[in-house]
Amino acid sequence: MDMQKIPAREGNHNLTDYEKTRETFSWEALKKHFTWNETGKVNMAYEALDRHAENPKKKDQVALLYSDPEREEKVTFATLRDESNKFANVLRKYDVKKGDRVFLFMPRSPEFYAAFFGILKVGAIAGPLFEAFMEQAVRDRLQDSEARVLITTPDLLYRVPQNDLPALEKIVLVGDHQETGEQYIDYNKEMENTSAKTEIEWVDLEDGMLLHYTSGSTGKPKGVYHVHHAMIQHYATGDWVLDLKEDDVYWCTADPGWVTGTSYGIFAPWLHGVTNVIRGGRFTPDDWYNTIATYRVTVWYTAPTALRKLVSAGEDIVKKYDLSSLRHIMSVGEPLNPEVVTWGLKAFNLRIHDTWWMTETGAQLIVNVPSMEIRPGSMGKPIPGVDAAIIDNEGNELPANQMGNLAIKKGWPSMMRAIWKNPSKYESYFIHGWYVSGDSAYKDEDGYFWFQGRLDDVINTSGERVGPFEVESKLIEHPAVAEAGVIGKPHPERGEIIKAFITLNDGYQDSEELLEDIRRFVKTGLSAHAAPRELEVKDTIPKTRSGKIMRRLLKSWELGLPTGDTSTLEE
Ligand code: ATP
Ligand code: MG
Repeated sequence: MDMQKIPAREGNHNLTDYEKTRETFSWEALKKHFTWNETGKVNMAYEALDRHAENPKKKDQVALLYSDPEREEKVTFATLRDESNKFANVLRKYDVKKGDRVFLFMPRSPEFYAAFFGILKVGAIAGPLFEAFMEQAVRDRLQDSEARVLITTPDLLYRVPQNDLPALEKIVLVGDHQETGEQYIDYNKEMENTSAKTEIEWVDLEDGMLLHYTSGSTGKPKGVYHVHHAMIQHYATGDWVLDLKEDDVYWCTADPGWVTGTSYGIFAPWLHGVTNVIRGGRFTPDDWYNTIATYRVTVWYTAPTALRKLVSAGEDIVKKYDLSSLRHIMSVGEPLNPEVVTWGLKAFNLRIHDTWWMTETGAQLIVNVPSMEIRPGSMGKPIPGVDAAIIDNEGNELPANQMGNLAIKKGWPSMMRAIWKNPSKYESYFIHGWYVSGDSAYKDEDGYFWFQGRLDDVINTSGERVGPFEVESKLIEHPAVAEAGVIGKPHPERGEIIKAFITLNDGYQDSEELLEDIRRFVKTGLSAHAAPRELEVKDTIPKTRSGKIMRRLLKSWELGLPTGDTSTLEE
C-alpha cells in the first residue's frame, strides 16, 4: 500500500499535544471533573443528564433532537430528566431494584431514552436490543440475562416468546395496544400518573450499568457487562476524540442496540452536554446528507459501511446539500478503507478519523485525533492512559511491522467487568496482564496501528500471511466494485487461496473480462500473491445488523458448512 499522509487539521482541538498528554495523563486526575469524586457514590444518569438539567444555563438546551419520517421532537435536558424520573418511579412501583436487568426492545424514540435513563436511575442494568431482532435473537438474550422487565412496542411483541422466559415478569408497552394480561404495563398511562421527581439510586463505581451483546461477527454473541466507572473514559474520549465543544450538534448513526449507540450515542455526548441528533430507520445517502444539512450537524460519528455507500453514490449528490456545518467525522466498527478516507478529503474537505474498539472495551482505545497526522488505512494510536501492543500467542511483544494479536494492557476504566454468566469466557480474554482482542494487526515504526483482519480470518496462502482487509480495500478502489468480502479457501497445494466476493456499482455487468480486469488491478496494485484466485459477484455481502461484513458466513457458504449463530444477520 503506498503510504499517503494527511496532515493534522488546522484549528483549535481539545487534544492539541497527543504525545505530551500521553506522558502526563492519569485517570486518577480526571476524577475531579465528576460529582462523585467528593461523594463517592455515582450514577451515570445524574452525570449525563440531571447535572445539566440542574444548571440554569443548560436546562432548556435541546438535549435530544429526534426525527423519523413521521415525527420530529426537541427534548430539553430538563424534560428528559423529568421523563426519566417518571419512568424510574414506574419501575419502582413494580419493585425493580438495583442489579435487576431491564431490557429495551424498541426503535429509537424519545421514550427509549427516557426509559433508558429511568432504568439507570433505579440502579438497574439496562440491556438494549436492536429493534430488528427476530424471535430467536430476543429469546437467547432475554434467557441469558434473565431480564425481569422488558420495554417494547405493541408491534414488536409478537417476537417476544413469553412462554420461554420464566424470569420475565413485566412487559412495558409503549404505544396503543389491546393487551390485557397482568404482565403488561401501559407506558403512557403509567407515565401520566407519576411524579416527575425521584430519588436517584446512588451506586458504586463498580456497580453494573449495562449489558450489551456483541455483534455476532465471529460466532454466538456474548453478554458484555459494563459498570458506571466507564464514564471516565466516555468523558475523556468525548473530549479528545469526538472533540466535543459545548455548542456542538452531534450525530452518531449507531443504534443503541450496539455499544457505539450507547457509549457514543448516549454517554459521551451527554456527559459533555451537547445537543444530540437521533434518527431512526435506515438511511439512503440523501437521508444522511439531508440530516446533516437540516440540523446543522457539526460532529458526525458513523461506520465504514455507510461511508462506502456514500462513495458509491458519488460526489455530485454531495453538492446538492449544504454541509458547511460539519467540522469533524469519525468512523468505527470495521476497518476504514484508505479509499474512503481519500474520497472524504475530496468530497467534504474533511479528514475521516478511524477509531478502534470493541463491545468488550466499552470505549475507544486506538484512535485518530484531529491534531494527529492520519495515515489512511491505519486505526491510529492508543489514547492517553492506554497501552497497546502486538503480541504473540505466549504474550511476548512483537517488534514493529510484525503481524500479531492486538493486545491492550489490562485496567482501563471502561473495560468490561464480566461476560454474563460465563467466567471462563471472560478469563480467556487475558494472558500475562494483557487483554487480547482477537484482531490481527501490526504497529509501524512511528507507533501507528494497522488492522489486518480478525485473527481467524487471516489467510495463509503459499506460505504468505495475507490480511483480508488489505485485499478488500484494494478491490473497492476499482471503479466497478462497491463492496468486497475476502476469505481463505482451503487448497491442497497452497494451504489456502484467496476468494473474493464482491458487489458491483451501478452500471457494471458481471463478465469474465471485468473479473479479469479486477484481478489484474489487485495484482498490480497490491501483489501477485494477494490477488484473489477466485472472484464471485453477489447481489449483497452478508452483514451483521451493526453493519459488519460477516466473513465467517461467506466461508461457511463457500465450504458448505453449518452457518452457526446468524441471529444478528441483516435481512
Ligand atoms: P462478535 O464478538 O460477536 O464476533 P464483533 O466482534 O463484530 O462480534 P463488536 O464488539 O461490535 O462485535 O465489534 C468489535 C470488532 O469490530 C473488533 O474486534 C474489530 O474486529 C472490529 N472493529 C471495530 N472498529 C474497527 C476499526 N476501526 N478497524 C477495524 N476493525 C474494527
Ligand atoms: Mg468481537
